[in-house]
Amino acid sequence: MRQSQLPNFVRKEFPKDEESYNAKILVRAGFIDKLMAGAYSYLPLGLRVLEKIENIVKEEMNALGAFEIRMPVLSPKENWEKTGRWKSFDALFKVIARDKKEYALGPTHEEIIIPLSQRAVFSYKDLPFSLYQIQTKFRDEARVKSGLLRGKEFLMKDLYSFHADAKDLDHFYEKVSRAYFGIFKKLGLDAWRVEASGGTFSKYSHEFQVFIEDGEDEVVCCPHCRFARNKEMFSSKQTGNCPVCKSSLEVAQASEVGNVFKLGTNYSGPFSLKYRDKNGQEKNVVMGCYGIGISRLMGVLAEVFHDKDGLLWPSSLAPFQAHLLSVFGSDAAVNKKIGKQAEEAYKKLAAAGVEVLFDDRKNKTAGEKLVESDLIGIPVRLVVSQKTGDKIEFKERSKEKTQLVDFSFIKNYLDR
Ligand code: ATP
Ligand code: MG
Repeated sequence: MRQSQLPNFVRKEFPKDEESYNAKILVRAGFIDKLMAGAYSYLPLGLRVLEKIENIVKEEMNALGAFEIRMPVLSPKENWEKTGRWKSFDALFKVIARDKKEYALGPTHEEIIIPLSQRAVFSYKDLPFSLYQIQTKFRDEARVKSGLLRGKEFLMKDLYSFHADAKDLDHFYEKVSRAYFGIFKKLGLDAWRVEASGGTFSKYSHEFQVFIEDGEDEVVCCPHCRFARNKEMFSSKQTGNCPVCKSSLEVAQASEVGNVFKLGTNYSGPFSLKYRDKNGQEKNVVMGCYGIGISRLMGVLAEVFHDKDGLLWPSSLAPFQAHLLSVFGSDAAVNKKIGKQAEEAYKKLAAAGVEVLFDDRKNKTAGEKLVESDLIGIPVRLVVSQKTGDKIEFKERSKEKTQLVDFSFIKNYLDR
């Protein structure tokens, strides 16, 4: 795609109204724009990253055998009253319609998916199954100073599983955990599975936490055996030594990028989501729910993958694989040659199926183009200038070294 056709959202300075690094850099580099605290627009570059995250998550969900659906964001008050959450969910956004009826904007979807699933569950033969969606969620969060890490409006993947008994849920719960490790690995993140409070059905639930300085959670962890528990749950006398391997424990800030939770029959009960077992006896369906913070992940990725000059996207997530820059000087004849050569390189890259952003802008200086390229953080930078002759200057965003190469080198590098 041509940068001359892309509205330039890149800023010279960090925005003054942001506190968190992820928001500062993503706004400055033109990936997102703040509408108000807790709500951001995803701009062309940002949306491409977000969609790559979504696709990695979808692949793993589909591999679990889960099917994707999409439920309404708007839901009736009655559903939330059934579970008591109309009153107890303090971050629930409530909307009043013209006929004075009240609705909730979905912060999570148990209250919607359970009555929905009722239509497909009659006997044990209908179980197990799992459904997920990737959708915008709304929560009236008290503090929204962490950019994409905490929004009033944010993107979540929520998966729900339906089982005949606890044993089947336990099995699936571990399968989802393994899928989560796979997702975070593909995203280049070292996520830890952390014990957290479990509700009534199990002693613990598990959060997947990534250690970052600006993370909102405190996690007690054992660097030796990777035991970890959310600090909220640790009594002070327990901190000290690891309950598993006795090494000394550490406490560090982290961001919860996902979680897995055994709901048991806590939600199927109020909605009478039941099935008949082999003996014809009616039983409550046993459930699990599993979230991933898609937009939060983008914030975490920005916190993890950057240097002093800007973002440093891993290639699986980068908005483009290569950033091709035509750098012009003052000589019109030379500029014409540079323009032509860069055009050819662009067409060849595009024809070879490379996702390439082509900075073909004529009104930007070399300095401006290079600074913006570092900010945006596409993994490979390719420059055509007076200095490069018939070759192209190749540079990896994460490295200092530049080298003059020909097209086949670039193609081989990107195919590797
Ligand atoms: P947290 O403890 O961070 O408030 P939560 O435990 O309430 O999150 P869930 O309701 O389980 O989170 O939501 C699933 C996932 O959605 C979380 O693991 C997190 O990654 C993400 N998430 C939750 N709230 C927000 C938010 N306000 N903004 C962005 N992402 C969020
Ligand atoms: Mg939590």
